[in-house]
Amino acid sequence: MSLVGEPVDLEHALRGRFGLQDFRPGQREVIEAVLGGRDVLCVMPTGGGKSLCYQLPAVVTPGLTLVVSPLIALMKDQVDALTQRGVRATLLNSTIDAALQTQRMAEIEAGLYDLVYVAPERFRSSRFTAMIQRVRPALMAVDEAHCISQWGHDFRPDYARLGEARRRIGSPPCIALTATATDVVQRDVAEQLGLHDPRLFVTGFDRPNLRYVVAKTGRDEAKLQELSRTLERAPGPAVIYASSRARCEAVAAYVAKELRREVVVYHAGMDRDARSKAQDDFMNGEADVVVATNAFGMGVDKSDIRSVIHFNMPGTIEAYYQEAGRAGRDGRPSVCVLLYSAGDRRLQEMFIENEFPPRQAVHQVYDYLRSLDDDPIELTYAQILEQSGVDVKESGVGASIQILDDAGAIEKFSPRENMAIVRFNMEADELEGSLVERISAQAPVKRAVLAGLEAMARGRVGEPCYFRPDELAAALGLDRPALNRAIKGLTAELPIDYIPPFRGNALRVVDRTRKARDLEIDFRKLEVRKRHEYEKLDRMTQYAMSPICRRSLILSYFGERANLSEHCGGCDNCRSDGDGPGGVDATLVDAPAARETIQKVLSGVARAKGRFGKTSVAQMLAGSDSERMTRGGLQALSTYGILRNSGLTHREIADLIDALGGAGLIESQSVDGFKPVVSLSEAGWAWLRDREAPALSLRLPREVAHKFAAVHGLARASARAATASRSADSSAAGDSATASDFCGDPLWERLKALRQQWAREAKQPAYCVFTNQTMEALVRQRPTTPAALGEVKGLGRARIERYGDALLEAIAGLQPDFAPTIDEPFTEPDPLLPTPRPPRTTTPPATKTPVAAAPSPATPAMPAPATSSDHVSTEEWTWRLLDRGFTIEDAAAIRSLDPSVVVRHLVWMVRRGKPLAASAIAPEAVVTAWDAWMAARPDGEAPVEPADRLYLWPLFRACRTGL
Ligand code: ADP
Ligand code: MG
Repeated sequence: MSLVGEPVDLEHALRGRFGLQDFRPGQREVIEAVLGGRDVLCVMPTGGGKSLCYQLPAVVTPGLTLVVSPLIALMKDQVDALTQRGVRATLLNSTIDAALQTQRMAEIEAGLYDLVYVAPERFRSSRFTAMIQRVRPALMAVDEAHCISQWGHDFRPDYARLGEARRRIGSPPCIALTATATDVVQRDVAEQLGLHDPRLFVTGFDRPNLRYVVAKTGRDEAKLQELSRTLERAPGPAVIYASSRARCEAVAAYVAKELRREVVVYHAGMDRDARSKAQDDFMNGEADVVVATNAFGMGVDKSDIRSVIHFNMPGTIEAYYQEAGRAGRDGRPSVCVLLYSAGDRRLQEMFIENEFPPRQAVHQVYDYLRSLDDDPIELTYAQILEQSGVDVKESGVGASIQILDDAGAIEKFSPRENMAIVRFNMEADELEGSLVERISAQAPVKRAVLAGLEAMARGRVGEPCYFRPDELAAALGLDRPALNRAIKGLTAELPIDYIPPFRGNALRVVDRTRKARDLEIDFRKLEVRKRHEYEKLDRMTQYAMSPICRRSLILSYFGERANLSEHCGGCDNCRSDGDGPGGVDATLVDAPAARETIQKVLSGVARAKGRFGKTSVAQMLAGSDSERMTRGGLQALSTYGILRNSGLTHREIADLIDALGGAGLIESQSVDGFKPVVSLSEAGWAWLRDREAPALSLRLPREVAHKFAAVHGLARASARAATASRSADSSAAGDSATASDFCGDPLWERLKALRQQWAREAKQPAYCVFTNQTMEALVRQRPTTPAALGEVKGLGRARIERYGDALLEAIAGLQPDFAPTIDEPFTEPDPLLPTPRPPRTTTPPATKTPVAAAPSPATPAMPAPATSSDHVSTEEWTWRLLDRGFTIEDAAAIRSLDPSVVVRHLVWMVRRGKPLAASAIAPEAVVTAWDAWMAARPDGEAPVEPADRLYLWPLFRACRTGL
């Protein structure tokens, strides 16, 4: 099938309709596939030009192209730009009023547009869906398609329903576009959208003008020195990314003071004005350096950024490349520098651990919350952490609560941002205008504020009234400090309670009688997701540590077939012109013998238990008989002398320890001014434990590097040699297995054949079936059960479902012929491996710390139940908000619920006799129209107008009829 009858002159359309000269890499191929009627999955980096891939087909083919995009803010810009070029484009979203929507829908149906942009929520409207069904679009484009996948970083429930929506509108040809690359997400997107035999394009990730450098550094001081070197070498606008707000401030202070550059800071802790000023200053060149957290970048389109420096390593290559890729948009040479220290990896590990707390922690948080009498519970995460004694970080408490919320065990009220509460403690008639008289006429501000508060509280005397101080201040023409001062004065003089906005989170336990173990929480799924995050982190760390061409690492990560010669010539691993410090060679530790030596060194460091310096440990490993060995008990360790016959002197071993420090596997710490002692870092432990650990790149003094290569029979130990031997492997992205250690192993060959066959069947490149890494892991681990398959890196549930049986069969049919060669510290449980900490036992505190600065502890923070022992259902909480005058949207926002859930709650309550005014549900005009409709159709059939409010109909009917 083809979308167009005649061949299209694509260049002509590109120039004539879009005013562009040439296609960017990949665009033409994608467009041709779309025009050929194929379903397409297009992976292109941000800024790569994905939009054109559906816009051009849209204008050269008859019929409508429906574009689904989550970015309402950008839709209008896109449509405006297209309209200016004479393209017939429009949009439908919640920013458009009902009358105009009706008109647009009619226009769309009449064929007035080639392109229509909608947000995914649009498909909730049955009228819209019905209209599109009739129109039968020629093409559906799903932008930011990773939002479909819960593996993606931006999952959205409305996206998850797009597959169903697509079927409902007759499954038009579909192009899905994203910049997210992992194959899990790709597969998920294709499956969920129901793409038929999709063509996968991964393209345009190479940025030839960017140079990649990694500096392995230790502490922040060393990073700052490296940073100033980079900034000196690359003058011009620079972005520095750091991991925390505090680091941003510190780095900015250094850049300003020591380097005398104009610098601004940007992070989420600043208010909006300060942030936009910082951004403006950077954009218009008043500041030429910005130090930012990852909050900076959305919508930043500055083309002449000459360097992007990461002061800390991000957790994934996607994140790194998106940020680093902001350099050199103008195509001129620019540099991306990563300052890596072992601490960076630990920080990311901590993020992951906190994001996926263990079952026990989740249960402990739950049990603590269940034990509280408050309803709702208003405690900050820090307070919950402190009082429950759960053994996680504060963010781990947040993650536990999120998990409980997802499982329906608790309900979160939104952080009621900026919502304050006022209560007038008096009889209703006291309020009638007389209060103002009690305030001196000399205090006009106080009088004005009182009048404002009274107006809000009218009819609700004695009850808590919610309001936004910002809005009140604006309405009265005051600033916040003035408002706060006035309120403070008023509460002192009058019987008024005031609770400033609470900054924590309010939540309630849905069913206190339910025990933690009865909750339905899928910890296995969480575990899989966690493993996935670790895999991504491993790839990022590998990027930082690897001696392999960094460009080809990135390209192969994104699945792009790198057509690179041996050296890209544009990264520190491919250049020998002095990017690295003098006299140092990068040495690749990959061959088994070299790995064994390094494992022995690490084992020795581990057994010395952080009590000795590197020289002592080196001597111990070399089997020295110096007096020091007996004194400290080093001679008694099982690792004593294990490198005696290695051909390396203890000095050379000490150099290895240094290099391992540089690679982040060993830490050295000075205690009280004594010589530093060495110990294993987390990364060191991980490397030691993991038989499949990635190859290491060690920076050794040149002579030591030669010696190391010689004693291990390495051909040539420099980075250059390493690069040459490995680049074929990495650039082919696992498509050919020539470089694998397992070549020739019958299982390897069998798996390779299977992979080829499956790739052909799936019409996908082989690496989309499995990567070489996964194949190697299979050969090494030889799993024999489905559970063991699950342990293999890179085999997710989907793959196991699809290929598991065949894999097990293949493995069972071939005798293992591979035995691990190194069994030194691994064969028995190692007493040195860290054991999980026992849980802290705690007793819940007898009294709870009050939250926020509540002047009257008796004042409830939310509408209070009649008596504190009453159980208030979740539906009632919602109803009470409406009863307090909040709109459905407000209630949805306050309770973090979807409006449709709020409506469900309300229907439930109304049917149980709780009154709700129809005017609280819909505007007057709608109420009138619906009443008329209802009078004409007593059967209760739903009206067709207005379409976007239809979800309110059941509630309306319930209000009117009680049914
Ligand atoms: P993406 O959606 O992939 O992030 P966009 O489609 O928004 O990227 O395109 C980014 C920018 O590149 C836009 O300003 C667009 O006009 C421009 N662009 C796209 N294709 C081309 C091309 N072939 N030649 C020049 N500029 C292009
Ligand atoms: Mg885009």
